[in-house]
Amino acid sequence: MSDTLILVLAIAAAVVVLGGGLALLVSRRSDRALPPPAEADELTRDAITHPEQDQREPETVEPVLPEPEEPEPAAPTTTLDRPEPAAGRLQRLRERLSRSQGTLGRGLMALIGRDRLDDDTWEEIEDTLIGADVGVAATQELVERLRTRLRVEGVEDPVRARAVLREELVATVDPSMDRELGSTGADGVPGVVLVVGVNGTGKTTTVGRIARVLVSEDRRVLLGAADTFRAAAADQLQTWGERVGADTVRGPEGGDPASVGFEAVKRGREEGVDTVIVDTAGRLHTKSGLMDELGKVKRVVEKQAPVTEVLLVIDATTGQNGLTQARVFSEVVDVTGIVLTKLDGTAKGGIVIAVQRELGVPVKLVGLGEGADDLAPFVPEDFVDALLGE
Ligand code: GDP
Repeated sequence: MSDTLILVLAIAAAVVVLGGGLALLVSRRSDRALPPPAEADELTRDAITHPEQDQREPETVEPVLPEPEEPEPAAPTTTLDRPEPAAGRLQRLRERLSRSQGTLGRGLMALIGRDRLDDDTWEEIEDTLIGADVGVAATQELVERLRTRLRVEGVEDPVRARAVLREELVATVDPSMDRELGSTGADGVPGVVLVVGVNGTGKTTTVGRIARVLVSEDRRVLLGAADTFRAAAADQLQTWGERVGADTVRGPEGGDPASVGFEAVKRGREEGVDTVIVDTAGRLHTKSGLMDELGKVKRVVEKQAPVTEVLLVIDATTGQNGLTQARVFSEVVDVTGIVLTKLDGTAKGGIVIAVQRELGVPVKLVGLGEGADDLAPFVPEDFVDALLGE
């Protein structure tokens, strides 16, 4: 091989190596020039919906969209949701309750309607009630009362037996308890509702739904995002607020929940709102630190205005676990009302009875779905009628 040929080959090799290096550099550079992930995703989505755009060189892409027209003048930034009218909503929720609880009622009716109520049948009645989370003590009391009454009043008439069952169930749910929501303050200060419970039970949803109902009654509502552990929780609350027309007071992520509660109530006072609803953190309910913190939120908030309601949110589908949570929470704050969510997801509505007995506090609201209007006031007679499929 001649020297010239060797030289030519060497130059060619150098060009190839240099070219590869440059290509690598360019590709590295273009890597760096990639948009952040969210934008990248959008690009990927665009590429899926408009694959032809992928073929074009970036430089040659001309704007294909027409220039945006002048915006419509003064379009409202948020459209406020109006809740469904109360009558229709309650009827719909009642039907939903009957659907989820009907099997319990039908089971009881079938047993009570038997010709002979022997010991085995009473045992079956007990098992049915305990299986529906009514709790052992409440079941035994209820069965005792039913036995006595049906013995005295006779059971031949199934209509009468059903009426007795209804009356005794209503008595067990205790219609004498005051179930009104304490959302009104005295002496010109706002009512303060503190919403507590384990995460995932439906606290934030409950705050949003209560705010929605109050706003629809022309009350001015302010929300406090005292769950400072999760930014997502505050975002979720704020979104609810924007939907229903209530401002949200937030603190820095990881900040002091008590100070957010304090600020919310302070602002509520200054602005003369009717009700401040404070959403709190509820992870690790067994960790004493967090529970102490909840007590602190209440104490600090009360430097501004008395707390008029402490609502404990319990997920009805968690049964005994829910009761344990109820006990723990009631030790650190004076729970004044219970919200039982997700009753639509369980046939074990007896938890209503068990939790009221456990805390001596009334169930005030029940959640019957994920929708904005799926929260209903708890009415014992309606609840029992839904059980019995009236
Ligand atoms: P938080 O962590 O306690 O604030 O709980 P969230 O308010 O975020 O609710 C947790 C989940 O439960 C969400 O998906 C809600 O839509 C859902 N949820 C809340 N209440 C109900 C209810 O009554 N029924 C059903 N089926 N789902 C509910």
